[in-house]
Amino acid sequence: MPNDLSPPTRPLTVPDLRGHTVLALHAHPDDEAIFTGITLQRLADAGARTVLVVATAGEMGTSRVPLRVGETIPERRIAELERSAAVLGVARLVLLGRRDSGLPGWTSAGHARALAVADPARLAREVAVIADDEGAGTVVHDDEHGIYGHPDHRATHRVGALAADLVGATAYRMTVDREHLHVSARGRHLVHGAARAAAVGFGRATAEISLAVTGSPRHLAGKRAAITAHASQVASDDVPTSGFDAAYGLEWFRRAGAPGVLDALGNAHLAADHRRHTGRP
Ligand SMILES: [Zn+2]
Repeated sequence: MPNDLSPPTRPLTVPDLRGHTVLALHAHPDDEAIFTGITLQRLADAGARTVLVVATAGEMGTSRVPLRVGETIPERRIAELERSAAVLGVARLVLLGRRDSGLPGWTSAGHARALAVADPARLAREVAVIADDEGAGTVVHDDEHGIYGHPDHRATHRVGALAADLVGATAYRMTVDREHLHVSARGRHLVHGAARAAAVGFGRATAEISLAVTGSPRHLAGKRAAITAHASQVASDDVPTSGFDAAYGLEWFRRAGAPGVLDALGNAHLAADHRRHTGRP
């Protein structure tokens, strides 16, 4: 039964974004699929170049499957990230080589290479150099809360926001709409488990979010394939096909700066409003 929270079922417009480059900064392998899996595919469909920058190799994520003999967690997770990036149409993948800080209170946050203790200004300069080389006019990064409070996601907020400032890019701050997820996903989104593990709140209220990007069934299938490419972290059963659209069919952003490339993908919040007022699909 469709309701106003379902992603729109009408065909999506495909803007012409050739010549535009979008840099998406994420903390760990799998965040790119979970939080921007639809958006990255739609940007690629529209002809935009997407550059995925991942700050750590997710070293603290225990593997749920046996590793190959001699294989390390970061090796496995980078291989999974490469598969996910290919599914999402990413043009270039860059690793910043910092180390996963783990959850709040873990001693891993004290490691010399831990992202949470890195100098944000120095890392921001690294990201800004990539953005500048690529001519990226748009930077996507975590919101001020680090989506669900993970120390590495808070760090990528600081780094991404500074980098966007340095190059004068429009910044889109990723989050999740916790009200939407409360109604549509009832604890079934991966962020629910992550927030429970970190013992923090997560996301934003609907009214705080400026842009909701949605996708077609093909984009949803691609997003699920990209998430499950991270097989060391996510089991297929963790993201069942039943209810997947309700939990993962929207991606949410708060924009800093002038309307930019992501706005051209259309705002599903406005589409829902349109349907409510006209009764038409
Ligand atoms: Zn993460």
